[in-house]
Amino acid sequence: MPIGLFKRLFPSKEKVEAPTPNKKAVKPKPAENKKPKSKAPAAPKPAVKPPQPKWDPAQFTVQAVEGKTRFHDFNLDERIMRGIYDLGFEYASPIQSESLPITLAGHDIIGKAQTGTGKTAAFLITVMQKLLTSTPQERFASEPRALVVAPTRELALQIAQDAKELGKHTDLHVMTVLGGMDYDKQRTELSNKVVDIVVATPGRLLDFLNQKIVFLDQVEMLVIDEADRMLDMGFIPDLKRIIRATPEKNLRQTQLFSATYPYDVIELSESWTYKPHQVEIEPESVATERVDQKFYIIQETEKDKTLARILKSPEMGRAIIFANRRDTTRDLAQRLNRMGLNAMLLSGEVAQNKRMATLERFKKQEKSILVATDVAGRGIHVDGISHVFNYNLPDDPEDYVHRIGRTGRAGANGIAITFVDEFEAYGLMDLESYLGNKIVTEVAPEE
Ligand code: AMP
Repeated sequence: MPIGLFKRLFPSKEKVEAPTPNKKAVKPKPAENKKPKSKAPAAPKPAVKPPQPKWDPAQFTVQAVEGKTRFHDFNLDERIMRGIYDLGFEYASPIQSESLPITLAGHDIIGKAQTGTGKTAAFLITVMQKLLTSTPQERFASEPRALVVAPTRELALQIAQDAKELGKHTDLHVMTVLGGMDYDKQRTELSNKVVDIVVATPGRLLDFLNQKIVFLDQVEMLVIDEADRMLDMGFIPDLKRIIRATPEKNLRQTQLFSATYPYDVIELSESWTYKPHQVEIEPESVATERVDQKFYIIQETEKDKTLARILKSPEMGRAIIFANRRDTTRDLAQRLNRMGLNAMLLSGEVAQNKRMATLERFKKQEKSILVATDVAGRGIHVDGISHVFNYNLPDDPEDYVHRIGRTGRAGANGIAITFVDEFEAYGLMDLESYLGNKIVTEVAPEE
């Protein structure tokens, strides 16, 4: 597990607020869902885990280093500390060291941070700490205590995966509510089990909400991840309805993250959060520090040959090639395959179950090549990506930062190679002003 990043030291406090249910719907309370007034929930909890080998917190030793924050400095529940230890994290990343003192003290947060900064663990640690610290008297199926909303299935699955790993030693029950898959399975799980943390994409969640399969009036912790992408993808109306079904903003804790803050996102974040604190991690610290960025001036007709040559070089590990359009990714993947390179495709036109299988294969193989569009590639959180290629210069400079953030993750170094052809060169100026530094181009290397 890679380690790196990290900064600063903050103290922490805890706030526990009981949400006031704003029940609008008549809640079905079938006998099997209703928790008796005794301690044990009537709805089945996940299967009892086999006894774990004993763990001594003293095993988790991390040297105190000036300017770095250790997780030990946050007074976290021992079960969370054990999850962190298993994940191999040592020092908190900048977003973690800046946001945790605020969120663990119960405050709302508006965070400006990219993926790759460790923001998922930042919000999950707070959610879990809070859930473990207070126990409601009664629990019912269909009523999560924490809700994380993310724009894409890939991202939501990744968040849920991270939550399961981080919460491995807790008995918090995490589930995903995602469109395009497992409708009945999700409905059954929600209706029959006590679920603590729901990680959802907006469409399916709203559908379940409308059908009274899920109730959000017991949500104590709300996380909205990648708010800017939700806006781009047209999810804001759905999201507004979802948030209206949760307790009032002063009765829940809200953590909102976005890589960028266009005007609409600023407005929404203000209306969804209560006296929020703001934390910003500069994109440059993600984009430029650990990623060696190269810009190759190249003719469009030469791109395939140069790309294939680099892909065949021995230092190549996992690589993602981004292109701007679905048809470009499809055709490119086919051409690479014809050149003997085993390239996988991840775009909106690939069926959802196939996309997940592709991602799994991409993660498992040490040397693998993925051709992706921006939307499909956004949720890819795979460590050990050595190279990101921009087959096209992205139309939107923000996408450039997201793309190259797939490599150089969590302390590792990465290489980002951007092809700039005769039609794309004008876009460099926009990118330069967005990144705030001069872009040095070079002629693509010959064999
Ligand atoms: P994220 O930005 O949440 O997608 O996280 C990026 C990567 O950083 C993930 O692979 C995390 O497992 C890893 N990560 C998060 N926090 C830390 C940390 N404090 N130390 C090392 N790696 C971390």
